[in-house]
Amino acid sequence: MKKNRKLLVAALLAFLLVFGIVRPVYGWNSHGMTLSYVLQNESWLSKYNDITITEYLYKDVDTAPVNPNFQIKYLDGEIGEKTTAAKILTTYVDEPDWDMDTELNLSKLQILTGGSQGWRHQYYGLGFIRLGAGPERVQYWFDLAKKAHEKGDDYWTFRFLARSLHQIEDLTCPYHTVPAPTGIIFKNIVKLSNLITMGKNHHYNMEEYQGQQIALSNSDWINCLTQAKPLDVEVKSAEWLGKYAAILGRKDVKTLWGLEDKFFGSSISGNKEWYYDKSTVGIAPQDSVQAQYDAAIFKALSRFSSFSQTFLDYAKENLGL
Ligand SMILES: [Zn+2]
Repeated sequence: MKKNRKLLVAALLAFLLVFGIVRPVYGWNSHGMTLSYVLQNESWLSKYNDITITEYLYKDVDTAPVNPNFQIKYLDGEIGEKTTAAKILTTYVDEPDWDMDTELNLSKLQILTGGSQGWRHQYYGLGFIRLGAGPERVQYWFDLAKKAHEKGDDYWTFRFLARSLHQIEDLTCPYHTVPAPTGIIFKNIVKLSNLITMGKNHHYNMEEYQGQQIALSNSDWINCLTQAKPLDVEVKSAEWLGKYAAILGRKDVKTLWGLEDKFFGSSISGNKEWYYDKSTVGIAPQDSVQAQYDAAIFKALSRFSSFSQTFLDYAKENLGL
């Protein structure tokens, strides 16, 4: 038993090592667009419809390293102009993907998660191994939001909350919590490069497909986001919420993988990089494999919505917004 466990860990690490090197890490396709539907349920945000855009003055407390080339952009207006909480959240929820976390040396093990960005945006759980700082980053940005709020700076309160929210949402994406089903890893471990290609194909096609269906304003997909309810849990901390999202996400990978094989066909698990042809895919017909696939993604996507709402409600309560 012990020997099997060691073998499992060695196999998984070997897989991740190569898998990690070649894959950039993003997450759900457009956090901002997807979040905009979720915010319909957060009516309290309308209290913050008149926020003055302020300069970033947090160098003394925002001490974790970022890519030296990262520059703060103001996309919702100039400093001194007005904006709203909803606009700040939907604009900057994508900000952690704008190269702030790339080119860093954070951990000797970061190579296993695709580099420093992957390290900060994921939280792999494989047996007893945990890799990545996703949940820690949820807490990091949340704490900064608290500091901004103490200074009476509504703009940076919501901008830091947007970054924290990004981290939570990444952890609701199943492929950010485990790279492939364990059975698939074992079956293909001797053909490592095939396994890497397969993993990338499944991850990226799922996210492309999700983005396409939201962009099509597919009502089932929009309803999935707007009808999801906040979680019925006591949030112990922002970091805890991130870990909880990851635990739930890992269970979905096996189902998603199988349905991707059925719906997209054998190319997705082939040995070549492959993307589906968007022009051939529309809204799922009833009782089709595609509809089954949609239903499997809805489980994760409704968590995107539930966790986002729970996080914002927690922030409201905890920060006194
Ligand atoms: Zn991300």
